[in-house]
Amino acid sequence: MIRICNAATCDAEAEFTLTYDYAGQMAAIGPLAPDHAAGGYDLCAKHAASFTVPAGWTLVRHVESSGEF
Ligand SMILES: [Zn+2]
Repeated sequence: MIRICNAATCDAEAEFTLTYDYAGQMAAIGPLAPDHAAGGYDLCAKHAASFTVPAGWTLVRHVESSGEF
């Protein structure tokens, strides 16, 4: 089953899942979640790499190897 990037106008295959922790003002990007997580956004490699968080937020990337980040 192919999941598609959630970014507007993007139809690339999703490779990462982005989740928000509003209480902790934190966003995390990790490998594509096996199940579509509630409140999670699937992103392709390009949008995962270019994703930024609002000022004051922390972005955590749980990505292994590849060195793309
Ligand atoms: Zn995308």
